Amino acid sequence: MMKFHFTFYLAFAASRSMFVAVTASNSNSTSTIQYPRIYVAEINTPAGKEPSAISRFPAEVDLLDYDRITDKIHKISFLVHDEQELVSLVALAKKTKSKTINETITLDLSATEELRLQITTAVEGDKGLFSDVAPQAASVYSTIANYPCYKNLQGSFAWLDDMVQRANIINGLTVTKTDIGNSYLKTKNAASGYDIWAIKITGTAAVGATKGIFFIMSGIHAREMAPPELTSRWVESLINAYGNDADITAMLDYTEIHLVVQSNPDGRQVAETDPSVLRRKNMNPSSSTCSATKLGVDLNRNFPFKWGDLTGSSNNKCSETYHGISAGSEPEVKAIIEYTKSIFPAAQQKLDPINQGQVTYVESSTVGVFLDVHAYSNLVLPPWSYSTTVIPPNNNGLTAIRDKIQYWTNYAGSIGYTAAGTTTDYAYSHLGTAAYTFELGTAFYQDCATFESTIYPINLKPLMHLAKISKAPLSLGQGPDVISLSTSYSPADGKLTIMAVASDSAWSKANVATAQQSVTEIRAFVNIHPYTPNSVGSLLVNGSVIVDVATYQDGRYSVYVQAKDSAGYWGPVTATYFVKSSTAQPTSVPSSKPTSASPTTRKPTIATASPTTRKPTRRPTRRPR
Ligand SMILES: [Zn+2]
Repeated sequence: MMKFHFTFYLAFAASRSMFVAVTASNSNSTSTIQYPRIYVAEINTPAGKEPSAISRFPAEVDLLDYDRITDKIHKISFLVHDEQELVSLVALAKKTKSKTINETITLDLSATEELRLQITTAVEGDKGLFSDVAPQAASVYSTIANYPCYKNLQGSFAWLDDMVQRANIINGLTVTKTDIGNSYLKTKNAASGYDIWAIKITGTAAVGATKGIFFIMSGIHAREMAPPELTSRWVESLINAYGNDADITAMLDYTEIHLVVQSNPDGRQVAETDPSVLRRKNMNPSSSTCSATKLGVDLNRNFPFKWGDLTGSSNNKCSETYHGISAGSEPEVKAIIEYTKSIFPAAQQKLDPINQGQVTYVESSTVGVFLDVHAYSNLVLPPWSYSTTVIPPNNNGLTAIRDKIQYWTNYAGSIGYTAAGTTTDYAYSHLGTAAYTFELGTAFYQDCATFESTIYPINLKPLMHLAKISKAPLSLGQGPDVISLSTSYSPADGKLTIMAVASDSAWSKANVATAQQSVTEIRAFVNIHPYTPNSVGSLLVNGSVIVDVATYQDGRYSVYVQAKDSAGYWGPVTATYFVKSSTAQPTSVPSSKPTSASPTTRKPTIATASPTTRKPTRRPTRRPR
């Protein structure tokens, strides 16, 4: 590591921004090291200054990492794209007149070299067929150079068409794609740029029931390679499983899944073909005062809620977090806004979000989950992102959901800085949907081995869980999960025995208060979904119930199970199939592998409130959301 000795200035209360910058004694020969570079600094953060001090971290810096190392020291790392940026950081520091903390800023040579390896532009990607841990791997499409696990833009578009076609021959499943708007370049010239596409997947079996709605977007930040691949593969896995996997089929029959897989196609095109610029923003030139690689609007700072707040975004057009000229000014953002307003119930949307932002939602009837998938940092972030101190309404519901996602992913659940004008703050303030940002993995250009071995598999259960609770996430998310389900059919007397185990705490990472209730009721529903109006099901006693199916014709039927905790919250529905055959031997069917969770490693089964000693230990880390 080569060290620069710089001086850090932390501007506290006087200014709303805290400037980090450098006065350089630019001593040694780093001039040969190519940009972009990653710098690391350790800042003395007096106890009590967090998180407010951190939240003032300048939007100007392309922040990669933020970790508390000790009680008094934070380590930050950030991207510096070129010499000019380094110089402007120095200038910024000189302008601040407040408390000075002498620190050392260090060029992280190994991180810089690793980054260079990731972004080395190579020859055109090939078809990249590879044997995949998941049968739904999408490598049959054209892929990104050197990253055979990621479909490129054209591959993504071909994939959309394939999914629509594939569904045409699947009974009971509808898959449609919709052009929801144009990219910036296409708004300027119809012959350039791209359409922005949404794909919708849902079953047709539900009759008279309100469905859950799960909206997912990925790719809004161009340089984040893994998110569109995770989201598209998961959706494809659902399509493949429809009609074969009871749990997925039940979920799709009673849920709409909407995915915008490429939310920033203009930027993505650059990120795929010239990784060296680390393109994050869209392609709106926005200004002539900075270099072409720095132009553009950060779409994840352009959404309307708290738009323009300079503690969480920048008005500097060259900044990586430039928020644009007005709220929702960018066509990519407009497309997402208009589409999401059209798919979630109008009655729950707030007409005056700024003033109604803290108004509580009705837990039992507020529909929908909004997920924006980014990279990187291994995080799951609920609202609010504009503030680290304002507690959002329905916080119990929001944190209960996050807690389970953390159980499956081990992602950290918060971060100590602010981001204003984000997708998820918009969703929560305007639409009423539970909203989360995922930050996948450890790199923008994440290596394929890590994607296949870790990122893809650990996110499947969280995605399924979010889908399952999306009918009423703020209440279903607080209820118990069915962690085991099986059936046994006896042809001799026409009786079906249903056995299930439910737990409020088994899939809780931190045993938050909402995961500490006892399970008071488990109900099984045969051949009728619990969402069907007036369905009551059969009560399980001591973990099982016998249902008379003697009058049923031979065939395959679904069994749905749902459990309630002592606080009165029902949890998500879990389903399995049983096959009735009058001639066959008694059947004992182990549960369809519970897709929303396989009992992994630990924990009690039937849950009661277990006083916990565990606490979340990870401190907030990094951000590039
Ligand atoms: Zn991002």
